[in-house]
Amino acid sequence: VTAQNGAISFAKDDFLYHFGLSSTAMDLPRVFGDVKFVCAGGSASRFKHYADEFARDIGVPKPANLSRSDRFVIYKTGAVLWINHGMGAPSLSIMLIETLKLLHHARSSDVCFVRLGTSGGVGVAPGSVVISSGALNGELNEEYVQWIAGRKVAHPTLLCPLLSSDLSTLAAQMKLPIVSGKTLCADDFYEGQMRLDGFFCEYTEQDKLSFLTALHARGVRNIEMESTAFAATTGRAGVRAAIVCVALLNRMVDDQVTISKETYIEYESRPFKLVSTYIR
Ligand code: URA
Repeated sequence: VTAQNGAISFAKDDFLYHFGLSSTAMDLPRVFGDVKFVCAGGSASRFKHYADEFARDIGVPKPANLSRSDRFVIYKTGAVLWINHGMGAPSLSIMLIETLKLLHHARSSDVCFVRLGTSGGVGVAPGSVVISSGALNGELNEEYVQWIAGRKVAHPTLLCPLLSSDLSTLAAQMKLPIVSGKTLCADDFYEGQMRLDGFFCEYTEQDKLSFLTALHARGVRNIEMESTAFAATTGRAGVRAAIVCVALLNRMVDDQVTISKETYIEYESRPFKLVSTYIR
């Protein structure tokens, strides 16, 4: 992982503010130099749980949180990092940039990034595990838009087809309910995803169904809030990446996530089962 910014040198101290880690105060190559996988997802407590489970699976002690800030957690089990990214592209982008810088300072190489998330399914049954074949922004373009110096800058969303197809093959062998399809990355949970149950709603149920039907016809199978930033940033950095999200509901049918806690926990475990088996 090599920074594409000459100002980021190995010698100069670089403070990774949202992790509370300094590149010179800690021996980053010793602690992180062997990292080969970064598993990322929204919730801090879910990622602590995933890290603990993975530690048990590979027979190592439960890891401690290496982050020194309350923004993100970082757990390390062998060559795998478990880092949460919060909700939405801006939060994910901060986490990803600081993780890439961390791995640059650590001189890690050949690192794969996987997002393990939750999503709303588009015409797929609740509990389906969607492996993203592409990521679309709110304009339905396969790009991530940033505003830099008052100008719109778009980068293509790039996921690794080989990694995604290996995950699909393994999921089929594991008899997980797998779907391959495009992912719409919305900038909010309510109007941006055509929910009818937000504080505001200036469209009809028919408008919602027409939009979801049009998305389905374009190959979209789920909606979440991070995929474009994840796919474009990893693509620009030259690291392989895949996105595996469970659908908590079928948005053609529901807007509210009303599944029981037990069902939620079981659904949430599916991306983990797949990705942790792949890594092992
Ligand atoms: N996350 C989303 O962004 N949308 C959903 O419907 C469920 C999870």
